[in-house]
Amino acid sequence: MKFIKKLFNIFFLTELLKGLKVTGKKFFAPKFTVQFPEEKTPTSSRFRGLHALRRYPNGEERCIACKLCEAVCPALAITIEAEPREDGSRRTTKYEIDLFKCIYCGFCEEACPVDAIVETRIMHYHFEHRSEQIMTKDKLLAIGDKYEPMIAKDKAADSIYR
Ligand code: SF4
Ligand code: SF4
Repeated sequence: MKFIKKLFNIFFLTELLKGLKVTGKKFFAPKFTVQFPEEKTPTSSRFRGLHALRRYPNGEERCIACKLCEAVCPALAITIEAEPREDGSRRTTKYEIDLFKCIYCGFCEEACPVDAIVETRIMHYHFEHRSEQIMTKDKLLAIGDKYEPMIAKDKAADSIYR
């Protein structure tokens, strides 16, 4: 009986037909493939991508050089130097993040009392030259200036924590 069943399967290619049935089902099922980079998957407002330093609407830097972000960073990726300005306010003279050390944990953003350092949704970036991974204060401020509307919107959406 077993032999006849085996012969039947071989003769009528039942195994092949079973496989084709699965292929047919998947062929007409809805596809979930994203055609990157033309199409992009949605990102959360809490996505932790490229860093940025923000300013207040009057153009003043938010960062008050408290160094909490530097202290909390588990990867020791942040380097800050600071000194008082002529008006007595304290501001950074050097603010650098080494993106090769950064593990994108978001602790710096959480620690910052004035929402100065943030991690944006930006995830598509690359480096072409050595030391480009060091994000200087100027570069971080430029990113903040460029993407402030998006950053402010994401901060507002993150209302549970703010
Ligand atoms: S995201 Fe984490 S590892 Fe990266 S700079 Fe901030 S605290 Fe450091
Ligand atoms: S970015 Fe925020 S936490 Fe870091 S030094 Fe400036 S004010 Fe302090």
